[in-house]
Amino acid sequence: MGKRAPVKLFCRQTYAIWLMALSIVLMTAAIGIQRRWEDHQATDKRTRQELATRARLLDSHLSGLVRNINLALDLIISERIREGRCDQELMLHLAEQYPEFRSFTFIDAQGINQCASVPSLIGLDRSVEEYVRRAKTKPLDNVLIVEKPFVSKLSGVPILVFYKSRADAAGHLKMIAQVSIDLHYFDTLLDSLREPGQAVFMIHGSGLMVSRVPDPDKYRLTDVSRSPAAFNAHRSNGNRLSTHRIVTATDHLEKYAVLSDIMPSSLSANSQGTLVVGISETVESVYAGWYQDNWIALAKWLTLSSAIFCVAWLVSRRQLALQHEITQLSRALDQHAIVSITDIRGIITHANDKFSEISGYSKEELIGQNHRIVNSGTHPKGFFDEMWRTISAGETWHGLICNRAKDGKLYWVNSTIVPMYDHKGRLDRYISIRTDISDLIDTEEQLQRTMEESDAANKRKSVFLSNMSHELRNPLNAIMGFSQLLLYEKLSPIVEENVNHIHKAGKHMLTIINEVLDLARVESGRAQISMEVVDVDRLIGETFELVLPLAARNEIELTHKSADEPLTIMADPTRLSQVLLNFISNAIKYNNPNGRVRVYTQKQEGNRIRINVADTGIGLTPEDQTKLFIPFTRLGQKNVEGTGIGLTISRQLVELMNGEMGVESNADNGSTFWIEFAAVTINHEPGNSNGVAS
Ligand code: FAD
Repeated sequence: MGKRAPVKLFCRQTYAIWLMALSIVLMTAAIGIQRRWEDHQATDKRTRQELATRARLLDSHLSGLVRNINLALDLIISERIREGRCDQELMLHLAEQYPEFRSFTFIDAQGINQCASVPSLIGLDRSVEEYVRRAKTKPLDNVLIVEKPFVSKLSGVPILVFYKSRADAAGHLKMIAQVSIDLHYFDTLLDSLREPGQAVFMIHGSGLMVSRVPDPDKYRLTDVSRSPAAFNAHRSNGNRLSTHRIVTATDHLEKYAVLSDIMPSSLSANSQGTLVVGISETVESVYAGWYQDNWIALAKWLTLSSAIFCVAWLVSRRQLALQHEITQLSRALDQHAIVSITDIRGIITHANDKFSEISGYSKEELIGQNHRIVNSGTHPKGFFDEMWRTISAGETWHGLICNRAKDGKLYWVNSTIVPMYDHKGRLDRYISIRTDISDLIDTEEQLQRTMEESDAANKRKSVFLSNMSHELRNPLNAIMGFSQLLLYEKLSPIVEENVNHIHKAGKHMLTIINEVLDLARVESGRAQISMEVVDVDRLIGETFELVLPLAARNEIELTHKSADEPLTIMADPTRLSQVLLNFISNAIKYNNPNGRVRVYTQKQEGNRIRINVADTGIGLTPEDQTKLFIPFTRLGQKNVEGTGIGLTISRQLVELMNGEMGVESNADNGSTFWIEFAAVTINHEPGNSNGVAS
C-alpha cells in the first residue's frame, strides 16, 4: 500500500482560515476580558455603595446613642445646679432607663462619687482616675468628653467613659457627670447590626479599638493608630464618611472598609475626643463570585476557542485536500491537454508546455499574443465570429480548430473555451482546453479517400461486368440456339448426350451472366425501381405459381398462410417477387428430401410487415450466415444448381426498396429468411377506385 503524504495544515491557502480563527479567538478573549473588567468595576462600586449604606445605618444608630448619653449627662449636671446637690433619685431613674449602661455617677470637685445609679459606688473616691485628675486641672465647661477605653482599676472590666464637667466662674472644677459603659455592650450592639462575612467595629479617636465583631476579645483595645490602617486613611481623608480598599491593621487582610465619625459630628453640643464606627468586608469574599464567574468565562472561552480551532482544522484539511485534488487534476489536465488562458481581449496570459510543444512557439513568444498567432487561415470568417459571440455571452464553446504551427505545419485541435468570472461575477478570462486530434483527422481523411476509391473501383467493376456480360451473351446465344437446333436432328446417342451437355452448360452460363448483369446494374446504381402499393399476400400467391413446378420436382411441400387482414407495403412488385423467388427456390433446393417450405406474414412492432420463408433444410451455422451475402459464395451443396449471387442481389434490391432483410437459422434445424417493410394503409373511400396509400 502506498504511504500517504502527511497533510499540512498551514500553507498559503489556509492562512486566511487560521488567521480568521485566531482573530475570532482573540476577539472573544478581548470581549471576555473587557466584560470581566466591567464586572470587576461594578462589583467594586456595588460593594462600596452597600458598605456605605450599612455604615450610615451604624452611624445613625450609634449617633443616637451618643446624643442620648449627652442628654442624660446634661440632666445630671443641670439638676445639680438647680438643686445645689446631686439627685440620687435621678440616678436610679437613669439606671432604669438605660439598663445596658454600667453606671451613671455624679462626682464632686474632690473626685468623690456623690450619687450613683449603682448605690454601692456612692462615696467611692475617683480622684485616682486619670480623667478625673485631668478635669480637676483643666475643667472644660459643658463639653462631652469620651475617654480612651480602658480596663477599670476598680472592677477589672473594659469600659468606655463619657463625662461632662462644670467649672465655676473662677474656672475651678465644680462637678463631673459620668457614664461608664461595658465594652461588651458594644460587642452585642455591633453584632446585631452586622451582616455575615462583614466585620463591624468602633474605634476611639486615640486609635484604641472599642469593639470589633466578630472576635471582639481578640481585637479589644488594640491600637490601630500606628499602622497604615483604614482608620488612619479615614482620619487623613477629613470627611465624615470615607470608603477605602486597604490592608487593615487588625488582621492584615485586604479589605473594603467604610468609616464614619459618630463623634463629634453627631453632636450639636461641644465634645472632645472622637468615636468612629466602621464596617469592612474582605476583598476575597467580595470577589469570590467574580472569581468564580472568571473561571466559568475562561472555561467557556477555552471551549469556544477549541471548537473554533477544530472547525479551522477541519476546514483547512478539506481545503488542502481540495487544493491537492485540484493540483493533481490540473497537473493531469496539463499533461493531457493543450491549455491556455486569455484575458477578455483574447491576449494570452498563460500557456502550458503542451501548447508550446505543438505550436512550436516558446511560452515567451505566446504570452502577450493573440491566438491568431496560430490561426491557419483555413476556417471561414464566420467561424471565429460565432466562437467570440458564444464566449462573450458567457457560454462555453466547443469546436474543432485547424491551427498552424510555427514551422507552417497544420494541426487539428478539439477545443473547449470556458468563460471565467471574477469574485464580483464579471467575465474576466477565457480558458481554452484543447486536445490534438490531427491523427484522427488524418485517419478519417484516409478512410474517406479509401471509401471513395473503393466506390469508384466498384462502379468500374460493375460497368466492366455489365459490358463483359453483354459481350458474352451474344456468342452464348449462338451456342444455345445452335445446340438446340442440333437436338432436333437425329443424332447418335453419344452425340445427343454431348449436345445436351453443351446446351445445359450454356443455360447455366446464361443464368450466371444474367445475374451478374443484374448485380452490376444494382451496384452501379442503374437498377430501375418503381415503387407502388403492393398487396403482400396476392404477390406471394403469384410468386407461388412460378415455383410450384420446382417444389413438385424436388418433392417439397410448399404452403402459404395468408394474413387475417390485407397487408400492404410500398415496393417494386417485380423486384419484390424476384427476391421472394430467390428465397423460395433456395428453400426448396437446400431442403431435405420430403421437406417443407412455409411462407407466412407477420405484423411487427412499429407498424412493419415481415414476410418469412421458412424451410426444414440443413440450416446455416453462424459462420455460414456471415458469408451469405458475399457474391459467388456457395456454402457446401455444390451439386445444387446455383450461382451464389442471388442473395447478394436480393439484399441490394430490398435496401433499394427501403426494406430490411435477415436470416435466422440453426444448423440442422432449417432456416427462415425474412424481409421487412413499413406497412401502408389504403384509402378505399368511394371515388378512390385505385386505392391511394397514406
Ligand atoms: P479577429 O480579428 O480575431 O476577429 C474575429 C471575430 O472575433 C470578429 O467578429 C471580432 O469582432 C471577434 N473578436 C475578436 N476579439 C474579440 C474580443 N476580444 N471580444 C469580442 N469579440 C472579439 N484562434 C485560432 O485560430 N486558433 C485557436 O486555437 C484559438 N484559440 C482561442 C482560445 C481562446 C481562449 C480565445 C479567447 C480565442 C481563441 N482563438 C483561436 C481566436 C483568436 O483570438 C482569433 O479571434 C481568431 O484566430 C481569428 O483571428 P482574426 O484575426 O481572423 O479575426
